Amino acid sequence: MVERTNDEDVAHQLAELLEALALDSTVRARLARFGGLLAAANARTNLTAARDAGAIAEHVRDSLALAPFVRAPYVDVGSGGGFPGIVLALATGAATTLVESTGKKAKFLVDVARALGLELRVLPQRAEDAGREPGVRATFASATARAVGSLPTVMELTAPLLAVGGVALLQRALVEPAERAAAEDAAPILGLRPLEDIGLEGDLRIVRFIKETETPQRFPRRAGVPSKRPLCLTV
Ligand code: SAM
Repeated sequence: MVERTNDEDVAHQLAELLEALALDSTVRARLARFGGLLAAANARTNLTAARDAGAIAEHVRDSLALAPFVRAPYVDVGSGGGFPGIVLALATGAATTLVESTGKKAKFLVDVARALGLELRVLPQRAEDAGREPGVRATFASATARAVGSLPTVMELTAPLLAVGGVALLQRALVEPAERAAAEDAAPILGLRPLEDIGLEGDLRIVRFIKETETPQRFPRRAGVPSKRPLCLTV
């Protein structure tokens, strides 16, 4: 009998766990391969808390909930081990850019893209810096940022990257009233307007903002400030 390596095991289990989802079989196979690569890399260096096929499948399912709303070109801020950016690049085929400031995670994302033959761009830098670069700023039709910060923080990181008409898709569990109020106050400051939330399973929802006008040049503020002093949020 041919023995499977740990990453092949995870890929195999993941393929089974994803079987119930209405996915193209090629997409399912590539998602499973991604899960295997993530598990293997995670065993060597800490990329994500999702360590086994079950946990990775949960992250894949969460990420896929965003797929119907992704428009190209698409950017994911703070991609970490590839959620939701790699999953959505695989599932939607949209031209994708991943912004990830931790070097080893950015390198993993480049390696995964190469292994899967995915043509995506990885920017190994902070979104505050990417958001000031000509050719990157104001160029995207949709943006995600999962588990990267409070709503006002991720709004400040994504709004400068969106073109006018682009949409920020921010997946959240419960949103505290103070955070929601801060997001509503911060929106017009950043050129955004809130759209209706999209309810997902349980408490999970996609909080959405459309970019209506150019984001003022003073945003994003310098690296670290959007998370240290989130707009309109008193902490
Ligand atoms: N989005 C992934 C997920 O849902 O599993 C990773 C979440 S992890 C908690 C947050 C990630 O965002 C980390 O990999 C961190 O390096 C990255 N990050 C945090 N702030 C960032 C910023 N300002 N610009 C780019 N990446 C950032």
